[in-house]
Amino acid sequence: MFNFHTYYIDEEPCLLNVDTADLQPSYPEHVRLSIGLHPWKVGEDWQEVVASIRKEASRRDVWAIGECGLDKVHGAPLAMQMDAFRAHIAIAEEVQKPMVIHCVRAFDELLMLRRELEASCKQEGRVPQPWVIHGFRGKPEQAKQLMTKGMLLSFGHQYNVETLRKVFSEYLSPLTSYLSPLTSPFYLETDDLHLSVRQIYEQVAHHLDVDVDRLSRLCDPRTNLFLRHEKDV
Ligand SMILES: [Zn+2]
Repeated sequence: MFNFHTYYIDEEPCLLNVDTADLQPSYPEHVRLSIGLHPWKVGEDWQEVVASIRKEASRRDVWAIGECGLDKVHGAPLAMQMDAFRAHIAIAEEVQKPMVIHCVRAFDELLMLRRELEASCKQEGRVPQPWVIHGFRGKPEQAKQLMTKGMLLSFGHQYNVETLRKVFSEYLSPLTSYLSPLTSPFYLETDDLHLSVRQIYEQVAHHLDVDVDRLSRLCDPRTNLFLRHEKDV
């Protein structure tokens, strides 16, 4: 049961979020990494931190850039957060790895940055990296808006059940055109909570009335989002 975003290692396969200052030379086989500067930690020194992220971003066990993003409730002034986030976007494109994004009340800005990226990628004839919004709690309309713009969602222990059901049923519907068949309907995570991701899978399986093993297969980013890296390691 893949844990898409966590700060702690347990026995489940996971994407462990680490600060570059704490990076170890190696990690257990079932642990892969995301590295980034959390928007709450963006300060005057952000460029130095981002430089260290750029240096480590090509590591084979780094599968994603983040978490990074925008937060209008906490952290540095939004303009500084936007600059730091843009620098992360550039790194993700450079190393061709997806992004794990923290976004609180800044979805208009996020969509604007996505449009910017899509425009520049289009000029260069390439496809932008997927962005995964972690800890998504928004309503179904917002989920759909983000997903039609090339973003994916990861749910933690708190989420809008209606959104979860809608995203799941639309993923399974052959009529849905805005989701690539190569992606999962969504991913699941524990974030900063000390609990097993199994509990999240069980809760979500209950809300969707599906078998937990089937859910575990569907929400495994190693079979889609990280397929390239999985083969690589
Ligand atoms: Zn976050």
